[in-house]
Amino acid sequence: MNIGILGGGQLSRMLALSGIPLGFKFVFYEPNNAEAVDGLGKIIQAPYTCTHSLSEFAKLVDVITYENESIPYTSIEFIEAIKPIYPNSKSLRLSQDRLNEKNLFKQLNINVNDFQKIDSKIDAVAFGQRAKYPFIMKKRTLGYDGKGQYIINSENELLCQDDTLFTNMIGEEKVYFDREISLIAISKGGKETVYYDICENHHQNGILIKTINKPHDVAFEKAKDYTDRVIQFLNYTGCIAFEFFQKGNELYANEIAPRVHNSGHWTIEGASTSQFENHLRAICSLPLGHTKSLGPSCMVNIIGEMPDKNLILNKANTYLHDYGKTPYKGRKIGHITHFPFAFTD
Ligand code: AMP
Repeated sequence: MNIGILGGGQLSRMLALSGIPLGFKFVFYEPNNAEAVDGLGKIIQAPYTCTHSLSEFAKLVDVITYENESIPYTSIEFIEAIKPIYPNSKSLRLSQDRLNEKNLFKQLNINVNDFQKIDSKIDAVAFGQRAKYPFIMKKRTLGYDGKGQYIINSENELLCQDDTLFTNMIGEEKVYFDREISLIAISKGGKETVYYDICENHHQNGILIKTINKPHDVAFEKAKDYTDRVIQFLNYTGCIAFEFFQKGNELYANEIAPRVHNSGHWTIEGASTSQFENHLRAICSLPLGHTKSLGPSCMVNIIGEMPDKNLILNKANTYLHDYGKTPYKGRKIGHITHFPFAFTD
């Protein structure tokens, strides 16, 4: 089986590393530097909008998937007409726009914090009066890892901003959450779905820094129910991550990611089948693997600079993943998983 992946970053790398033992071969399509997948298969370097290159890419493979949400959904639609591609274009299109995403959550009766479309300062003032300050204003599209997000602390502060800031935005009520969690599921078109443990996520400046999986978590059933509603609606195939804020017993839907997810990296060592292998199994119509974890793991991202590998590799039950990416400030260049993880570690 030849698998095509749009994107040449660490998620593509870990997909390939999990698929090679199953006999899969990989072709990557990446507009920029693809150093993270160097040596793992053929690399086509071309813009996502080049239909000629997309067609040539599609000819080389049996099935296609993608590793990030910034690919134009029209490129996924183009491929969809000539080759199987999962998750489908409908899923990508929805996840690319925070407003559409929140509207879908509402439509599916999934609990969500107050939000409003913002296209002018007047919209923002109205939302501030309703949702109270501080509220969060986010770009509807192309924001990730906290980029394109603003905390608006007061009407005064809002009025001082340049008018141009207030286009194509969403205002979100700030949730004073107890914790942030995600649920990762793998589905074959909603007919067969498996779920991993709840992941408890810790962020710094909007970037995930640490995830601990929580076997038998109290939030699991509700998160599973919400995730399944989205999967059924989207007729979803592949790995999906659903991020929530938890406050008391209530979950507030934050966002979905139609791909393998950073909060699921612990599954490589910590679960019977990793999210990466299960994603490939789903898109290739193979039986899904067990998702059971063998206890808690702790995954920590390496951001900006690679620590001394001797210090990491000297520790028992510690697994280092170096993505082979050139380091720079704020860039995710690897991760470490402790498994099994004792809370005294
Ligand atoms: P996002 O890109 O939407 O996942 O936001 C990045 C991080 O900002 C989240 O993981 C939260 O820590 C924080 N955040 C985003 N939206 C809200 C919100 N409405 N209320 C409280 N914190 C938020």
